[in-house]
Amino acid sequence: MTKPASKPDFDQYAIMAAKFSRDALLVTDIHDKVVWLNEGFEKLTGFTLKEMLGRPPGDFLRGDLTESDAIQKIDDCITNRRPVDIEVQYRRKDNTPFWMESRITPVFDKDGGHTHFMSSSRDVTARRALEKATKEATDNEQLRQQERRLLSQVSEWLYSAKSLEELLQVISKSLETLMPEAEGQLYIYSDTRDTLDLSIQWGGADTAQDHIEPDDCWALRRGRAYAFGMRPIEFPCGHSHSVEDDSPYFCVPITAHGQTNGLLHLNFGAFAPDRSQREKFKYFLDQRWELALLCAEQISLAIANVQLRQELLDQSVRDPLTNLWNRRWFLEAAQQQLTRAKTSKEPCSLISVDVDNFKKFNDLHGHDAGDLVLRALGARMIEFFTNTCAPCRLGGEEFIVLCSGMTEAETAEISEQFRQQVMEITIKYSGADLPPITVSAGVAATPDGTTDLESLVKAADLALYEAKRLGRNQVVTQSQMGLQSKTRSAPRPA
Ligand code: GH3
Ligand code: MG
Ligand code: MG
Repeated sequence: MTKPASKPDFDQYAIMAAKFSRDALLVTDIHDKVVWLNEGFEKLTGFTLKEMLGRPPGDFLRGDLTESDAIQKIDDCITNRRPVDIEVQYRRKDNTPFWMESRITPVFDKDGGHTHFMSSSRDVTARRALEKATKEATDNEQLRQQERRLLSQVSEWLYSAKSLEELLQVISKSLETLMPEAEGQLYIYSDTRDTLDLSIQWGGADTAQDHIEPDDCWALRRGRAYAFGMRPIEFPCGHSHSVEDDSPYFCVPITAHGQTNGLLHLNFGAFAPDRSQREKFKYFLDQRWELALLCAEQISLAIANVQLRQELLDQSVRDPLTNLWNRRWFLEAAQQQLTRAKTSKEPCSLISVDVDNFKKFNDLHGHDAGDLVLRALGARMIEFFTNTCAPCRLGGEEFIVLCSGMTEAETAEISEQFRQQVMEITIKYSGADLPPITVSAGVAATPDGTTDLESLVKAADLALYEAKRLGRNQVVTQSQMGLQSKTRSAPRPA
């Protein structure tokens, strides 16, 4: 005979399931007093039924980070008797914090009367930490991508800069955008290479030193980038003045073709948030360090590029023997000056200068001695003619000086002073003094830029020939020759 199957006792099963579930179950009455909790709850919180019975769960479970809308949801569940799903942060009996995902459900009796609240919860601390880390990693990656995009835009701008001045503006604007937390300065070596001069600063820094000694910087002394504020053993650079003594900063040498041209200095003193969170701050600085090195590399190449461009440009407009402007520069600059003079009505004048009897000098002392003379004459011209007068070598022993804002009389006066100075030039060659040289000069001026360039040059040349004809070593002006009216109507030379 088979035993008749016993009737399933669902109530019994429900009690077993609730008792042994790994989820934390808690039942409170309508006055929010604990009436029951399971083993899962005890395990999760460390509190026993005995400890919590008859008391509100809030007496035991307190969280610091629970968001206000979760608390509002609990109130809503109690007031309006609606089930809610929430995530809350509580502390265990041993005070360790943890995150709990809970569903709180109001319980009703057969007649629809509200009798209890029942909450079913599980620990989601690990899941939340993972979510947070993933979000941080995604945010960081997005930030890195944005930085890379910005950096490639920056390098395009850096390479488009035509002069050092333009480049410095691009550098300061770019670094301010790429690293808004950093105050920065760019120093460039002086010509004598004994100091570095402040070329540009950004990010609100105005306390930086105008000049720094190479020996005052660990990066320059050690020949590689230096970060202060990131390692246990480190020493501050002598040039670094920061608001807080322990402000982290980077010094990155700007180098090109094996030569150090300058220094990029970035200071994070003004960036204070989260410095208490050492790991986070360290991560931030590590990221900035990488970016700073990339920026310095781009800046180094861009500076070398601009310097090369400047050198080539200089070579194309400079005379190699005397370092004076050459004919090409003169023609362009004089034309521009005449165009400007037409509007400004400023006078514009020329001094045509030629060495006297230079052929004879060469024949007597040799071509090399002649070259020395031309070099010394060029140097004297650079020294003598400043600001509004630009001396140029047109070729051979013929020079021209382009003057702006000076009348014919003023130009004649300065020419005369120069002529006298030339006689004082002393040049040693093969251990002996070469005889002094003399020059003749012709001056022509246009009072308001109305004369065309060719006529003006011709007028100055004619005055020069007259000076030669009158016996050399003298200055003759266009008006002394009564040429003014003639040159205005003179046909242009072919
Ligand atoms: P004048 O007083 O009439 O100007 O006589 P000059 O001998 O100076 O003039 P000329 O034009 O007859 O001769 C110019 C000489 O300048 C010819 C050439 O030997 C010399 N010369 C031209 N260019 C150079 C140069 O680059 N170096 C040297 N050493 N001599 C040069
Ligand atoms: Mg001559
Ligand atoms: Mg000549």
